[in-house]
Formats: sequence, structure tokens, C-alpha cells
Amino acid sequence: QNLGQTDIIPVINEAMNLLDPTFKKNEVKYKVILPKSPVLLKADTIQLTQVIFNLALNAIYFSPKDGLIKIILEETKKKIVLKISDEGPGISAENVQKIFQPFFTTKTVGDGSGLGLSVVHGIIRAHRGTIDYQPNIPKGATFIITFPKQ
Ligand code: ADP
Ligand code: MG
Repeated sequence: QNLGQTDIIPVINEAMNLLDPTFKKNEVKYKVILPKSPVLLKADTIQLTQVIFNLALNAIYFSPKDGLIKIILEETKKKIVLKISDEGPGISAENVQKIFQPFFTTKTVGDGSGLGLSVVHGIIRAHRGTIDYQPNIPKGATFIITFPKQ
């Protein structure tokens, strides 16, 4: 882990640029909502990119055609919150408890190692943050990452 004071905004933009062709190929849309001023966090840039990348890839995989994925970054006095939501099927109550376990996957074709969310979870914990799942109303999945500010 290579921690340094980092503005998260360019990290999000960079991850989304990397994924732009995948969004196009899958005919999924995205909207990124960011604060105007830099959002500083003591973070490992590469690990943070991987977090956004893994969550967005899952969101794309489960999105319907023309579905909208939203990435929202918010900062308050006490915390930094990153939300990523999609309009896919969401996650059943039964599976929610298992999604952060290594090798848990419901993907049926090829690419489901079941490691993505367990890696994300490990990285967020290493940054002293938390990650939670919430259903996206009316339909879909939302992942909420919270980093407390010292
Ligand atoms: P993989 O992508 O290889 O299946 P992950 O650890 O990334 O492994 O995800 C584990 C499981 O969590 C997925 O197989 C799926 O069941 C569920 N999941 C993750 N993200 C989403 C999402 N955005 N919408 C619905 N289910 C999801
Ligand atoms: Mg995955």
C-alpha cells in the first residue's frame, strides 16, 4: 500500500475513462456527480482505482441495456462518501451476506471469479473505510463507501 494525500476526483475520472469503451460496448450509460473542490483522502491511488473499476464492472455486468449507472461523491465535515448505483436486479437478502466473501459469485458465464468484492472490501478496510450494500430504489444495487475524516 502506497498512501499519500490524494484528490479522489481525478481518480474517479481516470477509472471511468478506462471503462468508457466497456460502457459503450454494453450499451450502458453513466453519470458522475462530483463536488467542485478537490476531495482529499490519504489513499493508495492504484487501489482506489481498482475499487471503482471492480464496482463499476459489476454494475455494468448486471445492468439492462440503456441502464443508468450513477457514481456520486460527497464530502461533509466528518466523512467522504462514494456511492455507485445501477438499475440491475439488485442482490437478494440471502446473497447480501455472502457478496464480500472470496469466490462467491452468481455469474454464470466465464468471468465470475467471485474475488472482485472481496478485494474491494479489503482495500476499503485498509483505508479505514466501510462499504455497505443498499437496494437502489425502485430497482438495482447501490454500494456505499464511507471514509471517516480524521
Ligand atoms: P464476480 O463479479 O466475479 O461474480 P464479485 O465479488 O465482484 O465477483 O461479486 C460477487 C457477487 O455479488 C456477484 O456474482 C453478484 O452475485 C453480486 N453482485 C455484485 N455486484 C452486483 C451488482 N451491481 N448487482 C447485482 N449483483 C451484484
Ligand atoms: Mg466482480
